[in-house]
Amino acid sequence: MAKARKSAGEAGKREQNPLLAPWRTPFKAPPFGSIKPKHFKPAFGLALKTHKQEIAEIAAKTAKPTFANTIVALEKSGVLLGKIADVFFNAASADTNEALQAIERDISPVLAKHQSAILLNRRLFLRIADLYERREDLELEREDLRVLERTYKAFVRAGAKLDAKARKRISEINMELATLGTAFTQNVLADEQAWHMLLDGERDLEGLPESVRAAAAQAAVDLGKPGQYAITLARSSVEPFLQFSARRDLREEAWKAWIKRGELGGKTDNRKIVVEMMKLRSELARLLGFETFADYVLEDTMAKTPAGVRALLDKVWPAALRSARAERDALEKRARADGENFKIAAWDWRYYAEKERQARYDLDEGEVRSYLVLENVLEAAFDTAGKLFGIVFEERTDIPVYHPDVRAWEVRTKAGDHVGVFYGDYYARPSKRSGAWMSSYRGQHKLTGGIRPIVVNVMSVARGAPDTPTLLSFDDARTLFHELGHGLHGLLSDVTYPSLAMTNVLHDFVELPSQLYEHWLSRPEVLKRFALHEKTGKPMPERLLKQLEAARTFNQGFQTVEYTASTLLDLELHSLRDVSGLDADAFESEILARIGMPAEIVPRHRIPHFQHIIGGYAAGYYSYLWSEVMDADAFAAFTETGNIFDRKTANKLKTHIYSAGGRQDALDAYIAFRGRAPEIEGLLRKRGLS
Ligand SMILES: [Zn+2]
Repeated sequence: MAKARKSAGEAGKREQNPLLAPWRTPFKAPPFGSIKPKHFKPAFGLALKTHKQEIAEIAAKTAKPTFANTIVALEKSGVLLGKIADVFFNAASADTNEALQAIERDISPVLAKHQSAILLNRRLFLRIADLYERREDLELEREDLRVLERTYKAFVRAGAKLDAKARKRISEINMELATLGTAFTQNVLADEQAWHMLLDGERDLEGLPESVRAAAAQAAVDLGKPGQYAITLARSSVEPFLQFSARRDLREEAWKAWIKRGELGGKTDNRKIVVEMMKLRSELARLLGFETFADYVLEDTMAKTPAGVRALLDKVWPAALRSARAERDALEKRARADGENFKIAAWDWRYYAEKERQARYDLDEGEVRSYLVLENVLEAAFDTAGKLFGIVFEERTDIPVYHPDVRAWEVRTKAGDHVGVFYGDYYARPSKRSGAWMSSYRGQHKLTGGIRPIVVNVMSVARGAPDTPTLLSFDDARTLFHELGHGLHGLLSDVTYPSLAMTNVLHDFVELPSQLYEHWLSRPEVLKRFALHEKTGKPMPERLLKQLEAARTFNQGFQTVEYTASTLLDLELHSLRDVSGLDADAFESEILARIGMPAEIVPRHRIPHFQHIIGGYAAGYYSYLWSEVMDADAFAAFTETGNIFDRKTANKLKTHIYSAGGRQDALDAYIAFRGRAPEIEGLLRKRGLS
């Protein structure tokens, strides 16, 4: 009786916590409306306990290890924890608050410890290792063999082979890194929230086109200052301001605030945190038998070694530097022609680049924006997915969302089969981390029936004023396509095992589906149909299309230098053999001096706010460039047929890349699609650097 009463009580508690109760929503989407911060702690508690039990059972089995009783059992474990963590971390990134931030600080080290306890579980590892040794004799299907190999590798890379003392230390390091990483990210957000610049009257607005003014007016409304104009540190706010503002003093002020995120002194300063993290990462790498953290990370990538990354960067950097220097000279000339008599400073670059672009190509970014209505660009991205992969997006208002700005779509095949759920969350807000990303609420797999995914795209676009459409810069539109490319990599996934599904691929392969997808946006076939003027609805004129095409490689020296400098900072930082006495500022200056960084350009991300290298892109920021070699080469597979939607090529792309997750070795997957390994010429041509 007592026992029955207790379990009834627990079941009752479960029913009351929306994170634990069954989700009776369309497509079993998270019931966002009823989830409150207070629900996370008990839900995490139960989910961790459940997962621990599952793992303990697998490890304690006395029966000889089989693929089913060990690998499949592992793949099936942790479902509840994954579900709750997905809801939590998406909220912590896209719509956070003080309560969630406090939970994040508490739960991050707990989750890191939990993860370590699994990967460093001796008995569990011995079962996996036993299977791995016998893998050739197990008569496994190809994907089964792959998941066994990847699981073994993940355990070895986590330190499962090491002695008990080393394993204990690794677990401690992982917890400390999780705590530091959470602090780092929250500090950047705090610095972004703490700053905005109010523009007072026409004099402060000088040079800003209508669309930038409208966005600044809306930003002021969001800050509780209606009737005014505000610039924030969201990229979509500060970048257009730097591009158009004729007020050099205000540009300097905004630019300095932007590049100083994470190093303002005081409580939110990230420089000491970075040094601590580098020490821990370096120690971790050595424990695992690698000289540096970069050696460790890159061992499990397509690039394989730091030398492999440098070989690519060495081809790109000198060419980018040459282009950037020529661009700077042209900007200086432009400024002089305007009657100015100063050297171009970093806060001048975007402004004079815009003038130069207008003069050279007669291309006005403001005019381009007026043709890039968010709604239509989204339509274009969906339409492209339809043409390539035969799927349709149908908006649904009955699927719960986590913020009024979020929209939901059901994705189906043209025959009507359910593919997945897609959320789009496009507007900037103070509760959202800056940048753009794709994430998921449910992974795809076939272990317990055909489980279809729920994915989300998040961006930080400056919203248009009420009753006016939100306009995008060409860069924003490209980012929208980029993130939907990741989204499709998730939505189209068609593999058996969760750990091989969706974007679970080598990290220098993961940007291929996203960057490749950007190519379709730039094509006249797409722009002519979807780039419609915000007021007249008329398609982008031929003249503007031609100007866009002609200006395609304009300012690419700057962009490549900006990006590659961050890549080199990341690589060099994680290649340090001795991190004692590391000073983040001095290190950054030293590296930039060594590579000959032009004084007028600042790395796209400086170390104190370089969130990529705190999260999953440590020693991996080069991945974008690595993937770009493939995406430039992969898109050529379409243009070579004369049809950017060529059916046969699209089918191969879906089979080997977008639906294949990590089922296959990355290079093999590429070759299966393209018929050969990628060639770098496409990248250099695309950036106008060859
Ligand atoms: Zn990406």
